[in-house]
Amino acid sequence: MKNLISDPLKFASLMAHQLKGPVASISTILQTLLGEFAGPLSPKQKDMLQRAIARCDEALVAAQRVLNISKALNDPKAFGGVVELVSIVRKSSVAWSEQARAHNINFTTKIDVEPAQAIGNEAAIPEVVEALLSNAIKYTPDNGSIEVHLLYNNSTDTYQLKIGDSGIGIQKKNRQKVFEPFYRTPGAHASSRPGTGLGLAFVKTMVEAAGGNVHIEKSHLGGTELIVNLKAAPKVAAEQIPGDKKMERPVKVVIIGGVAAGPKVAAKINRLDPDADVTIVEKGTLLSYAGCGLPFYIGGVVKSQGELMSSPAGVVRDPIFFQQVKNVHIMNQTEAVEIDRDKKQVRVKHLIDSTESLLDYDKLVLATGSEPIIPNIEGNNLSNIFTLHGVSDAEGIKAALDKGKARDVVIVGGGLIGIEMTEALVMRGCRVTIIEKLPQILRVLDRELAMLVDNHLESHGIKVLTSTEVKRFQGTDKVESVMTDKGTFPADLVIVAVGNRPNIALAQQAALEIGTTGAIKVSPQMQTSDKDIYAAGDCVENIDLITQKPVYVPLGSTANKQGRVAAINICGGNDAFSPILGAVACKVFDYNVAVTGLTERAAKQANFDVVTVLVPAPDREHFVRGAEVLMLKLVVDKKSRKLLGAQGISRGNADKRIDVATTAITAGMTVDQIANLDLCYAPPYSPVIDNLITAANVARNKLDGLMNGISPIQLRQLIDENNDCTLLDVRTPAEYHQIRLADSTLIPLVSLRTRFGELDREKSTVIFSSYSLRAYEAAFILKKEGFSNVRVLDGGLEMWPYEKVQ
Ligand code: FAD
Repeated sequence: MKNLISDPLKFASLMAHQLKGPVASISTILQTLLGEFAGPLSPKQKDMLQRAIARCDEALVAAQRVLNISKALNDPKAFGGVVELVSIVRKSSVAWSEQARAHNINFTTKIDVEPAQAIGNEAAIPEVVEALLSNAIKYTPDNGSIEVHLLYNNSTDTYQLKIGDSGIGIQKKNRQKVFEPFYRTPGAHASSRPGTGLGLAFVKTMVEAAGGNVHIEKSHLGGTELIVNLKAAPKVAAEQIPGDKKMERPVKVVIIGGVAAGPKVAAKINRLDPDADVTIVEKGTLLSYAGCGLPFYIGGVVKSQGELMSSPAGVVRDPIFFQQVKNVHIMNQTEAVEIDRDKKQVRVKHLIDSTESLLDYDKLVLATGSEPIIPNIEGNNLSNIFTLHGVSDAEGIKAALDKGKARDVVIVGGGLIGIEMTEALVMRGCRVTIIEKLPQILRVLDRELAMLVDNHLESHGIKVLTSTEVKRFQGTDKVESVMTDKGTFPADLVIVAVGNRPNIALAQQAALEIGTTGAIKVSPQMQTSDKDIYAAGDCVENIDLITQKPVYVPLGSTANKQGRVAAINICGGNDAFSPILGAVACKVFDYNVAVTGLTERAAKQANFDVVTVLVPAPDREHFVRGAEVLMLKLVVDKKSRKLLGAQGISRGNADKRIDVATTAITAGMTVDQIANLDLCYAPPYSPVIDNLITAANVARNKLDGLMNGISPIQLRQLIDENNDCTLLDVRTPAEYHQIRLADSTLIPLVSLRTRFGELDREKSTVIFSSYSLRAYEAAFILKKEGFSNVRVLDGGLEMWPYEKVQ
């Protein structure tokens, strides 16, 4: 009977078994620490623990492999199965080519035959390939070469896997001995590379158990060539193999882009089809980070990059995480440069060493996102001028701020990203100027609401210049000032945030259809004009739910949902992405700004005849601590009475109402239906009639002719045109003396029935109060007394965005 030393496979399996327990315990202890059950941890400590857990997982996987192999060897029948060599070789090659790149080794893979179904064991044969590639990498010096070649030998009906290298080589006389357990060649001993001397013994045993053979020759590259021959499986048409799913080759999916849409596709595929062979190709270093969190990272609210890349449970989604947890191979710092639709291949360039390789795909996903537009303005190459799209931009801005010399910051562009950056910069002690070419900031809002945000920014010391165009960035090496058509502003740092354009270069090169918005055109299933190429996220255009026209609205929320739809369809499901409303929220200091659907401007452009309402009211019962005014605007189609859009601003809660509005618009609800929605109520969370319901009722009153309103913009125009109208303030004298509109007349509501005679009936009258609730009552009184031209100021004094007298 063999003892343990003379039976190394048994020895290895016993060792693997012995090691598994302690390593699993170490992993559990580390996970307990990571869960902060033994006290709080710094982000760095968490990061280190996560890495230690990942290493434990690797060790457990390795130990399990040894056990699987030994189990398989004890059951010779287990080697009579069928394995698909192409996917095994590809998967291992992709993983090991990364390692090779780190050592500047030229790694090439050539596959002459596909599919390649051979006799073997599905647990053992992947281990054979892994062991051979691991050896090749181990014994090939830096700057060397490795060639992997899979071919079919017709005369022997075998598949042949050749792995050649330019490594240290094996002398002819030792070429048989290396397959003996624990034998290491003198060259291997002399090298500093660790090794057990068991790898090739495993390989030989497993290959022979499958009826194949393995031998060594000298490689034309100078080192060794390991040649494995495996018998081809009997040729049976796939559909004739009843219910044997394992006979099918795993679907090979290549995803280009690794921030939001790409990782979402990968993660969902992994859940639906754990056998799928998924690779993410990403130009940058990091992946799966929260781009939307970058302003908070710059402001210091988010302390580390790791937090931006973490799951809610604190697990950092780095390449190791994707590889080990999601079974997704990551090729970062790798750019996809060309798609060959006929051959179903993507040519990728490894950015570290500029080498190129080809990736085959069954399904390709473009998640190439967008890039910031850099306007062609003189001086835009000066240092300290940044855009903000990825983590590296944020690091650049942070570094400039960390030097402590960036006091004056100019933000070019008053869109969502520019505005979100203001608070971060103020937190970092900067003086901020926003320069916006259009007459208003935040084009997602209508003008009167944008002006309220503008006022809020000004109250935090931000200088906001609208209708102002940048002419030049000035400075020697570093930017020093920004010249505009309205003057020159000092700038130690400039952030250019004038919008994004979709990354469509690859789609164009592959002659995929581009939509009218300039982004990739996709079906609701997220398929491009090539049924095997999907696209999702910022690189695609969407359909507007209301107008049913194509729109380009790049948002993280949309990118993630689209990624899921693409994955389901790739895995044979049937899911469709719906047209969008472009709902988005934004934090502007303590303002919660949110919007959905069409603005009044967009609705009119789409030829809707609309009624709009501005309704300010406390966001919860006024007697509850913390109640804040919520300023809502609704845009309603006069003909159908359906809600088309909603905008909200509050120091309290706006986004909840906007989300309800999104649901209502999606369901095609009229304001009459919204007015009767069974929304929940408790004093700390909403007024007894929710703000959205009140706003819907105001819209109904307008639609039914019970209320005649005038918007602040229309009234401002009347005043500017010297239109002689009475501005009637129906608040109390105390309120009036505190703050009022210029040239307004005060008649408190309680006195109106007795004092209406003081008003000129011939003139038009615009009535207002704080929220225009009292104004609404006053309008009824005046109408009853025969006043024919009476209007209520929409939104009252609260939403009046122009100057007030104090
Ligand atoms: P991207 O994030 O652009 O990622 C695409 C990736 O593809 C990039 O990393 C790029 O390097 C890679 N790539 C491109 N071409 C290639 C190639 N040929 N080869 C390899 N790799 C390639 N959205 C919201 O919904 N709400 C918010 O509050 C919000 N705030 C934001 C704040 C900021 C500061 C920013 C910058 C964005 C914000 N967004 C927000 C938008 C959101 O981040 C994006 O919509 C989302 O990141 C889009 O994801 P994506 O995967 O489609 O594209």
